[in-house]
Amino acid sequence: MRLTVLGCAGSFPGPESACSAYLVEADGFRLLIDFGSGSLSALQRYAGIDAVDAILLTHLHCDHMLDACTYVVVRRYAPGGPLPPLPVYAPMGAAERISAAYSADNEPVDDVYTFYALQPGTFPIGPFTVTADRVNHPIETYGVRVEHNGRVLAYSSDTAPCEPLLRLAQGADLFLCEASYLDGVANPPDLHLTGGEAGEAATKADVARLLLTHLVPAWASEASTVEAACAAYAGPVEVVRPGARYDL
Ligand SMILES: [Zn+2]
Ligand SMILES: [Zn+2]
Repeated sequence: MRLTVLGCAGSFPGPESACSAYLVEADGFRLLIDFGSGSLSALQRYAGIDAVDAILLTHLHCDHMLDACTYVVVRRYAPGGPLPPLPVYAPMGAAERISAAYSADNEPVDDVYTFYALQPGTFPIGPFTVTADRVNHPIETYGVRVEHNGRVLAYSSDTAPCEPLLRLAQGADLFLCEASYLDGVANPPDLHLTGGEAGEAATKADVARLLLTHLVPAWASEASTVEAACAAYAGPVEVVRPGARYDL
């Protein structure tokens, strides 16, 4: 499978990146994981405006789902006629959240999207076997493990340290893990990881490679985040960039 990073800025778009959005492809099937602010632009730049066969929204914070609202226009008003309804795997309430943000009168969007409520468990999406589990974030949030042909991509979504994150990431070939907070300062609990905590999770889960994401460009020190991750994890570490591709 192939991972393409469309956006990786934490919490709000940065000067060089949209918010979280990751395209995962295999066997010609394209799964978009998260669809944060600004990432519809990146989808067109790095993949294609209709290069999506299913969407998984890990949670309903704006920086992970807001472009699913603007994407309604793309699919509903396509010049050749409406595009077929797209499966959307998301926490309960996603339909209402998207329609409320799309129009002031809560116009339904079920002509564009077919919603499936995420729950902890393992299920197929196209050629992928996806395992979702609740992670440690203030609203209902799912980390995911995506498997295809014996290869494993794990994605933390937004989370503070927690056991489900370690289970999802266990033995992953690629562990795409958030590192929003700086180490060595008093961060609020139960929200996000630091670089050091991402590194600790990577070590405990025995992953092959750690990709750091969701750094907040305006507030982060990328160098110190990487340094803290490397101090806690002996394997390869890098910070992802928009347009970066990883084959696994
Ligand atoms: Zn976020
Ligand atoms: Zn969040």
